[in-house]
Amino acid sequence: MIPALSISGLGKRFGGFVALHDVTFTVAENATHAIIGPNGAGKTTLVNTISGLMKPETGKIELGERDITRVPAHLVARAGLVRTFQITSLFPDLTVKENIEVALHACRLYRLREIGSAANLQTADQLMERFGLTRVAGQPTAQLSHGDQRILEVAVALAAEPAIILLDEPTAGMSPDETERFTSLMTQTLKGRHTLVLIEHDMDVVLRTADHITVLCAGTVLADDTPEAIMADPVVQEAYLGRAHH
Ligand code: ADP
Ligand code: MG
Repeated sequence: MIPALSISGLGKRFGGFVALHDVTFTVAENATHAIIGPNGAGKTTLVNTISGLMKPETGKIELGERDITRVPAHLVARAGLVRTFQITSLFPDLTVKENIEVALHACRLYRLREIGSAANLQTADQLMERFGLTRVAGQPTAQLSHGDQRILEVAVALAAEPAIILLDEPTAGMSPDETERFTSLMTQTLKGRHTLVLIEHDMDVVLRTADHITVLCAGTVLADDTPEAIMADPVVQEAYLGRAHH
């Protein structure tokens, strides 16, 4: 197993409140790794800490071989860890194609020294094709359905050719149809080709997409295993799944 992201002994407090305690897990390269847990478990705090928005008091975060603990968010992104936000972060007046072009352009500016590899970079047309967005290429982003906006966000994240994409509740606010489209996209065009960390409350989406699950509960790792083992784990059922099902 090649580790893409290694978290060890991570701890984060808010005043006297312990939000994360001794959180340790590894995301394998090209895995779809879900992080689940009840409300207040610490999922968002974990994402904020990994992506550099918050600084942990203890522990270590490594992106591949590189120590990114306490590295600020913009440098974490440049090091190759890109996240999508629960709130969309697109330019609403620009078209779909223009949003992707802006992202491609920004990424190429960062990589001037790698200009020789430019031929390998994806184009806006390829990304739109891959994500089923060609039919809305010329539409201002603000006019897109919620589902298309979330999908465009992933396309924009991929434009940077990141080592890891962190998806923060991508299906939040989606209709059942949109959730279905997003889940198919995950399994058909993203899974196995990119390293994905997925924060997701919809267990159906998790079980259809994830090949590994970390369960957080009250700031600690309750379980970290394959989906099959997680579903069969009585501790997980008691602490989380049981409650989530009524
Ligand atoms: P989740 O995303 O799993 O629902 P969060 O990471 O948002 O959980 O929150 C974990 C706990 O930390 C919650 O009890 C929350 O109230 C607390 N918390 C989160 N952010 C802050 C903050 N900035 N200041 C104080 N407490 C916080
Ligand atoms: Mg949250």
